[in-house]
Amino acid sequence: MRIMLRNAFRRRRFLTKSKCNNVRRFCSKRPKYDVVVIGGGHAGCEAAAASARMGCRTALVTQKKDTIGEMACNPSVGGIGKGTLVREVDALDGLIGRVTDQAGIQFRMLNRSRGEAVQAPRAQADRDIYRDCMQAELASIENLDVLERSVEDLYLDESDRNVRGVIDDKGEIIHSDRVVLTTGTFLGGIVHIGPKSYPAGRHRRDNDEVEAPSTGLAATLERLEFPLGRLSTGTPPRIDGNTVDYDDGPLLEQPSEEIPVPMSYMNWEKGVALKDRLVSCYQTRTNARTHEIVRENFHLLPKFRQEGKVKTPRYCPSIETKLKRFPDRDDFGHVVWLEPEGLPENTSIVYPAGISTSMPEEIQLRMLRTMSGLRNAEMLRPGYVVEYVVFEREAREF
Ligand SMILES: Cc1cc2nc3c(=O)[nH]c(=O)nc-3n(C[C@H](O)[C@H](O)[C@H](O)COP(=O)(O)OP(=O)(O)OC[C@H]3O[C@@H](n4cnc5c(N)ncnc54)[C@H](O)[C@@H]3O)c2cc1C
Repeated sequence: MRIMLRNAFRRRRFLTKSKCNNVRRFCSKRPKYDVVVIGGGHAGCEAAAASARMGCRTALVTQKKDTIGEMACNPSVGGIGKGTLVREVDALDGLIGRVTDQAGIQFRMLNRSRGEAVQAPRAQADRDIYRDCMQAELASIENLDVLERSVEDLYLDESDRNVRGVIDDKGEIIHSDRVVLTTGTFLGGIVHIGPKSYPAGRHRRDNDEVEAPSTGLAATLERLEFPLGRLSTGTPPRIDGNTVDYDDGPLLEQPSEEIPVPMSYMNWEKGVALKDRLVSCYQTRTNARTHEIVRENFHLLPKFRQEGKVKTPRYCPSIETKLKRFPDRDDFGHVVWLEPEGLPENTSIVYPAGISTSMPEEIQLRMLRTMSGLRNAEMLRPGYVVEYVVFEREAREF
């Protein structure tokens, strides 16, 4: 970030003269924080904790304290590729592995029948427990302040061509010479459901509200001429688990492994916290009727999805993308895992993994009701797609 901002300064895209004078005045003092981290998602929690562990006075600045540690999409951790990443973060004394071991309600080692090098731990977490444990972990860290604010701008200094802090939505400055951006899907975020679209970072899961996108910061990065691009990623509708008929078919049950392998090396001996409360997932499938509904309504997808203009993550394709990539799967269908979002006393919401979509709500419900087990399902929240600003790869050289 330092290098990126320095170079941006070379091209003279920065503060007005009066703002620079202010900056000089403030820079004569030692900043209160060594590091400011913007955003309290997975990345921000780890960045803030790592910085504070290294003895840096750190501020984690995030829009809402109560959403720190919120799992934005699937309440799962790990899997192929990401499981190795989690273990690496754990080996560096990161939080994600330990918190998953406290909140995990299903654990599986993927590729168990293959060699150890390609095995991958995956766990599903109770969303509430995960969030609460992450917040408790952060609260226990010395040198770390959590500030509930939205960052609107970077505070830049012309004299030494560096970042000097951040400016929040009330115009207050939080001084620091190092700023870490972990804004997830929020930077210039726009949510789409069918032809409807509106500015948002993501939907809240507990009510109908949306979380505000980070527009000021996106504008600053654009003004500074960072190489920016847009990505889009989608999520499936959420289902009321009480309306799922597990005997229809019947659905194939996938229990947790009985003796879960913990995510964190620190829990190797003691095991995971909820080992006596593990839950099962169930498998259903899309079929020719589901596919027909998708194909008939393809024109109702958000325009940018129809045109394929914005890049999407390669490994979490929407059902629409799957049908395009594999047009001959009408007989066999695509697997959909019905995953509980938590322990029964905390939630009855089920996450149907594998059917992320941005079709209009009524089409989503029709799609769901074509599948075994879901013929009478109630949809609690629709799926959606969010497109947001990201740094392009060239930004590394910037
Ligand atoms: C619709 C949707 C689909 C998804 N699909 C996938 C997928 O396909 N694959 C996958 O791996 N993951 C997916 N995810 C999950 C998610 O995007 C990431 O995996 C993960 O949550 C990213 O973590 P993060 O810490 O980078 O950001 P996030 O979890 O998005 O957290 C960002 C944090 O920054 C805060 N913030 C943002 N801007 C500001 C600001 N200006 N000031 C203060 N705070 C700010 C927000 O409040 C939030 O707390 C999806 C999420 C959504 C919403």
